Amino acid sequence: MFKRILQLLYPEVCFGCSMTLLESEEILCSRCRLELPRPGLFLPKPNWLSLKFDGWMDYQDAHCFFLFSEGGRVQHLMHQIKYKGAQDVGRFLGVWCGSELNKYNWPFTYDLILPIPMHAQRARDRGYNQAQCIAEGISSSTQIPIIWGGIERIKNSQTLIHQNRQERFQVLEEVFQVINPSLIQGKHVLIVDDTLTTGATMLALGQKIKTAGARQVSFLALAALQ
Ligand SMILES: [Zn+2]
Repeated sequence: MFKRILQLLYPEVCFGCSMTLLESEEILCSRCRLELPRPGLFLPKPNWLSLKFDGWMDYQDAHCFFLFSEGGRVQHLMHQIKYKGAQDVGRFLGVWCGSELNKYNWPFTYDLILPIPMHAQRARDRGYNQAQCIAEGISSSTQIPIIWGGIERIKNSQTLIHQNRQERFQVLEEVFQVINPSLIQGKHVLIVDDTLTTGATMLALGQKIKTAGARQVSFLALAALQ
């Protein structure tokens, strides 16, 4: 009853399309749940996503949950997770993504989830790390633990926009630092990020943790540009 009155006064809207949500809906309307473009997980390789990673390093899987397009609903959704403080949306989508992972692959070969670390200064400015919110959701569905601390981002990478992929990759390798290698030694680590464009950031972190002793690396972006 109380929820119904609140809904009348302050209607909750869908984070994907901004339409008013029904009482039974949460975060996303049923239409967005059905229509948001999802390419599927565990696609046979090579595929459009694996081509962003192939040839750069040895890894097991590369997944994305949503397809990202300029001006589309997924972009709108990701924007709110990243810049509008919608941490609960990140967790909600992480839970959904994790439950889909459960359908495909059980038991998992992933030992740990590593959200891409955010530079401390940026984390202070924003107040949260969106990759961590998504990772928390995935972890709660799959029961795969998250690595807390131990790996840091020691530089911001805003200046990479005008560099090509090779240059980016080299610069990015210096962006991350493994403080506590014992956390990842011998483990298969699933690296999680919010959006993936070139894959260079994920690759750089993957390379770094492999050098530090991780047994295997896989990648999962909540949304990726095709
Ligand atoms: Zn919607």
